[in-house]
Amino acid sequence: MSTKVGMVSLGCAKNLVDAEIMLGSVLQRGMEITSSADDADVLVINTCAFIDSAKEESIEAILNAHQARGLSKRPGQKLIVSGCMSQRFARELREEMPEVDAFIGLDQVSQLGEIVENVLSKRPTPNPKRPTPNSASSMFDVGRSTFGVSDLELAFASARPTYIPDYDTPRFRLTPAHSVYVKIAEGCNHPCTFCVIPQMRGKHRSRPMESVLAEIRGLVAEGVREFNLISQDTTYYGMDLWTEKAGPRQPVDSSRGPSLSRLLREIQKFDGDFWVRLLYTHPAHWSDELIETIAACDKVARYIDIPLQHIHESMLQRMRRETSREHIERLIEKLRAGIPGLAIRTTFIVGFPGETDEEFESLVEFIERVRFERLGIFKYSREDGSRAAKMPGQIPAKIKNARYRAAMSLQQKIAHANAAKIVGRKLKLLIDQPLLARTEADAPDVDARVILSKPEAVGEFVTKRITGARGYDLLA
Ligand code: SF4
Repeated sequence: MSTKVGMVSLGCAKNLVDAEIMLGSVLQRGMEITSSADDADVLVINTCAFIDSAKEESIEAILNAHQARGLSKRPGQKLIVSGCMSQRFARELREEMPEVDAFIGLDQVSQLGEIVENVLSKRPTPNPKRPTPNSASSMFDVGRSTFGVSDLELAFASARPTYIPDYDTPRFRLTPAHSVYVKIAEGCNHPCTFCVIPQMRGKHRSRPMESVLAEIRGLVAEGVREFNLISQDTTYYGMDLWTEKAGPRQPVDSSRGPSLSRLLREIQKFDGDFWVRLLYTHPAHWSDELIETIAACDKVARYIDIPLQHIHESMLQRMRRETSREHIERLIEKLRAGIPGLAIRTTFIVGFPGETDEEFESLVEFIERVRFERLGIFKYSREDGSRAAKMPGQIPAKIKNARYRAAMSLQQKIAHANAAKIVGRKLKLLIDQPLLARTEADAPDVDARVILSKPEAVGEFVTKRITGARGYDLLA
């Protein structure tokens, strides 16, 4: 009987792609994937460590999984912890959670199959960073009930990840068959003071354009209808790719944005009816060329996700966003003028250290004036290891909560007014479930849905008249 592997994946779409790669490597080793945790010989918890609440959720998931395995159909079940929290805190977690059978890092996602075999036979987990010593038995105390406790075992925790998948990396897709996430790059080179992601995910590294195109070409042939391009900063795509032709250590594109533009223009050439959606863009790297490209490519969704985080100049500086209020205001004007019908999604942080009432008010005024089609608000979370965690002027939770509520209730009014304007129009919809669809202006999981009055074929595009709105959602 083959080994059954189950997985609980938390966090963002980037973590989800890692989960898909891990499961791909499990299948490659001839194991089975199960959706029932009870039924798994090995259960993997793919964690998130983005903010405090995400870490709490991850720890709870690990503890719940450990508790449940005593009651599961497979009492000998092994527990593996992967993802951002494992990458960053493996040593601390190992101390606190000896019950976990192995922690793995982000560079090891494509090796999960091998790691599962090793955990089941109690061999040491392979570590891509350092060679296995001859005296393995002294380094790996494989006789203990816990596994992977040596320094070597957790060496990934001291190194910044460098892994990036390729087009032929085995992958088991967890999204509906018609909609995929394509990770075009990994890591981040920005110095945002509230963020610890670069410490967990390493420096920015782009996939070669041919690799991304080969992946999308294959998926278009399979009938995929939606490609959600993701990375930490999608607009940085290609700025780190070097070419001999351009001279020693010259980037393929030294200016901003052309690589992503080129990629989009190449994707546009593929036959087929599909949407390409840009998620996680950074305001600093937008270019006129990119705006013109999106306008010219009808397969690129009239939707962009551009986390702005704040608008007040001193907040942007303290957050080290590498951009200015003037640049952002001008960019939004150019986006709206250059791409008619564009839906803009953004996120802001409220309660960042030192944020005054006046600075928060300027953010509220900006939200009211720009009227973003989609908007999320985060309460600032003090992350250990970030520069902002040490800043004076930390804001009490009560004020953060009040600012969060004020910004969200304003956005709710804007969203409802925006939805009302759409009623009566005919829109192209992508059917996610027989009675649920999305418009071009809605990314999967994070945005609104369209509730249908009669079932439609999943994975197909249909054109429907919008008949009403219910909260953030539309009716058709
Ligand atoms: S752009 Fe800033 S917020 Fe986004 S991942 Fe990079 S450092 Fe973090």
